[in-house]
Amino acid sequence: MKIAIVGTGYVGLVTGTCLSDLGNHVVCIDKDRAKISMLEAGRIPIYEPGLAGLVAKNVREGRLAFSVDLPRSIDGADLIFIAVGTPQGKSGGADLSGVWAVGRQVAESLRAPATIVIKSTVPVGTNAELTRQMSAITPVPFDVASNPEFLKEGAAIDDFFKPDRVVVGARRPEVAERLLELYRPILTHERPFLAMAPESAEMTKYVANCLLASKISFINEMANLCTGYGAHIDDVRRGIGYDCRIGFQFLAPGAGYGGSCFPKDVRALIHMAKMVGIPCQMIEAVDSVNEYQKEVLPRMILNHFGGSIRGMRIAVWGLAFKPETDDIRESPALVLIEELLQAGAFVRVTDPQAMGHVREIFGSRLVYCESPYSALESADALAIVTDWDMYRAPNFQLMRDLMRRRIIFDGRNCLNEAAALQAGFQYQGIGRLTPG
Ligand code: NAD
Repeated sequence: MKIAIVGTGYVGLVTGTCLSDLGNHVVCIDKDRAKISMLEAGRIPIYEPGLAGLVAKNVREGRLAFSVDLPRSIDGADLIFIAVGTPQGKSGGADLSGVWAVGRQVAESLRAPATIVIKSTVPVGTNAELTRQMSAITPVPFDVASNPEFLKEGAAIDDFFKPDRVVVGARRPEVAERLLELYRPILTHERPFLAMAPESAEMTKYVANCLLASKISFINEMANLCTGYGAHIDDVRRGIGYDCRIGFQFLAPGAGYGGSCFPKDVRALIHMAKMVGIPCQMIEAVDSVNEYQKEVLPRMILNHFGGSIRGMRIAVWGLAFKPETDDIRESPALVLIEELLQAGAFVRVTDPQAMGHVREIFGSRLVYCESPYSALESADALAIVTDWDMYRAPNFQLMRDLMRRRIIFDGRNCLNEAAALQAGFQYQGIGRLTPG
């Protein structure tokens, strides 16, 4: 098939590249000229494992191209995906200006019937409203389908080729059939294609993200209670996780969730509930528990030092909102760093992928260290915010030699607590016992 993808970010670039790898001809379009020039020059604007090689292969084999020219690129396309950002707007709801702008441009340029596929995460009713807006512009017949994306940054390519399911909302069976054809190569019995009404498909994405965010906020609240009562969250997790109704996934305590999806999608659902006057108390709590959780690590550090860290050197390992990505949107690390700076500490940060983005925000207020160990030079404490694999089994001996004081605040419970204690460190995790 001939496919155009509008919006060449994490979702658009991964989807476009993987669809081209399945044998389709794909043009990835973006209004950001610098991003498109970079891709045309063979460079990848984001860090996503495996993506660079797959882009290069499909460009070389002539199935993948990049453009800023939307009208020309959608000419003759069977499917036009919309994968632009839908960030949080001022009201708390999703800002759909990007989706409307693309819809308008597509409608103005449409010469032959096509199917527009909304891949961006959008509130229920967006499919219907986009159809209405575009119909007012173009006499050319078109369909609008909804195909929410469930990929995880850091594992996006694997998620594309092995999705848990593909959800498609379409008003006509022929449209669902067209998308079934597109996805058929990656579908199996266990990886089904689920066709439904667009409203249900739109809602599915929010329900999925809000449930995942709820699990995180739930276990974080339980971990905080463990701290309050001297219980150990690792034991409690084991105690509940073997119950097959509960399981272990997404029940790991930490410094709060971040990223470009959970925070904004949780707030968008709260806004959607307000718009129809239906209570949404659980999801409101998920959001406020998460805001509280981002403060737990800074508070832990301040409390440990009796309320003052002025002039101290604090090392921060991990800046991305999770491992295997360079994405720092709503990362708990940003909250921690700001609080440490406000309290007068000198902050030395390190991250294998996300340092460039953090430098854009904090500039010379931080010291940027290429290796985790150089961040520890004469440090009074170490705080871990992202559980990159490379931090999980550090050289404690070397850390002892480098640090001025031996205290670790583990915001992801990613270190072996016993090993840290044995190496002579004081250690505090989230919901892990603090030795007296
Ligand atoms: P992103 O910010 O990385 O990329 C969006 C791209 O769209 C940018 O490159 C931007 O320049 C481009 N764009 C915006 N307006 C445009 C326009 N009018 N014309 C052409 N290009 C335009 O965003 P993302 O992380 O890829 O997310 C895209 C959508 O997918 C969002 O709705 C998000 O909620 C959803 N989503 C994201 C993820 C994820 O893990 N990132 C997962 C599932 C769903």
